[in-house]
Amino acid sequence: MAPVTEAKGSPTPRVQKARVLRQLAKKQAFGQLVKSCELHPDVSQQPTCPAAKKWNCCGETFDSMADICKHVSLHHHNKVEEEATKLLSSLHMSDIEITEQPRTSDLVEDMSKDSKKQKSEEGNKSQESEEVAWLPDVSNVDLGDPNDERSGLVTLFYKYCEVERPEELEVWQRDLCTRLKLTGKVRVSTEGINATVGGSSQAVHLYIQAVREHPLFCHMTTQEFKLSPGSARHFHGGLKVGVYQELVPMGVDPACASYKEAGVHLSVDEFHERLERHLQTEDDKDRTVFVDCRNFYESRIGHFLGAVAPDIRKFSYWPEYVDKNTEFFQDKTVVMFCTGGIRCEKGSAYLKSKGVCKDVLQLEGGIHKYMEKYPNGYFRGKLFVFDDRYAIPANSDIVGRCFYCKEAWDEYKPCSSAHCHQLVLSCDRCTAAGWTTCCRDCQLQAAGASARGVRCREECACTKGRRRIPVEV
Ligand SMILES: [Zn+2]
Ligand SMILES: [Zn+2]
Ligand SMILES: [Zn+2]
Ligand SMILES: [Zn+2]
Repeated sequence: MAPVTEAKGSPTPRVQKARVLRQLAKKQAFGQLVKSCELHPDVSQQPTCPAAKKWNCCGETFDSMADICKHVSLHHHNKVEEEATKLLSSLHMSDIEITEQPRTSDLVEDMSKDSKKQKSEEGNKSQESEEVAWLPDVSNVDLGDPNDERSGLVTLFYKYCEVERPEELEVWQRDLCTRLKLTGKVRVSTEGINATVGGSSQAVHLYIQAVREHPLFCHMTTQEFKLSPGSARHFHGGLKVGVYQELVPMGVDPACASYKEAGVHLSVDEFHERLERHLQTEDDKDRTVFVDCRNFYESRIGHFLGAVAPDIRKFSYWPEYVDKNTEFFQDKTVVMFCTGGIRCEKGSAYLKSKGVCKDVLQLEGGIHKYMEKYPNGYFRGKLFVFDDRYAIPANSDIVGRCFYCKEAWDEYKPCSSAHCHQLVLSCDRCTAAGWTTCCRDCQLQAAGASARGVRCREECACTKGRRRIPVEV
């Protein structure tokens, strides 16, 4: 487990933090007390064999870790409290106020070793209540089947906040997800956390609960965690947790386009009303523009009526798109949206930094939240997601078209050319006829006509033909 110290100026409640630290200190004190009761066997005996260990306390000998723990928690509660207080004061902390940033890493490391040892013992009930809330002990919890798609879930959430040591969040998230058998992607950075993880519904709910217990994220509401059907199977890469410079890769130094400078949030209802007015009022078309800041292949299978979809292949092209289209945005009220809202936080900050728009607004919670409230609203088609589900249906509309016969089709498959990263819309009939690539180049390569010189590529020849100006979809 990894503690995360409070970021300067963040709204993290110090009292809650102090409570968590007190819990940790109690655990440490408890472990030390148990250890002090340990009987040291003869050198001839194997000192490392846990089964050979014995403890003595109050004149009684204990054969198992569980028994000594039970004894200590029953009869030496006060002593544990006393030691915990000493430990905290030695770290310049008290119950109410933390006056200095504590150095808890050593303490926590010791304790996690202890708790691992203790967990290996049977019937160790007394230790469970000592677990930290944001890293729950789930060894006795039925987590269900992480791969059951019928009952499982995927959750998506992000939080922009100042994080002093993202590496500690990384360790915590990896540990938490591993315990809960969740897979997916978790990005952490000095500007917060961005995660999409899937598994059994029990595990996903425990995950959300644990995150909301963490001192940095205890202000998050359950509403901020978007849920959709799915499972751990959808993430082929398994679990990926990492520290990055940016929460979403826009390619701009967070210092230049800070989430703190983001556009004003519109609630789902406010957004819906505004878009309705926009669609019904001819005048508003010159004043307001609704912009999808997702990638072209996302808007191709689902989009808001009347919105503009930039032809960008990845989010790091957003700044270039904005730079090239400042005239288009001049004096307009720009209403941005994306999947869950995270890209808009940075994208709107960048657009605002240009100083050309009248106003920059963004849909809070993204299309995900909009769909929940208005499944048959102005968002038509499917919501693209970055795992192998590819899309979550909003309504029965099929917005995409088969690349080959132009029939309505919105089920993505990866290009069948081994070294291409593009997604392909090819209907069942065209697929059966062998049309399984993004373009002719790839089709030839797949057929082995040009096997030499094939590199793994991000861009494909066919992407060059795409328009780079705003188009209404
Ligand atoms: Zn005793
Ligand atoms: Zn077709
Ligand atoms: Zn291809
Ligand atoms: Zn291609």
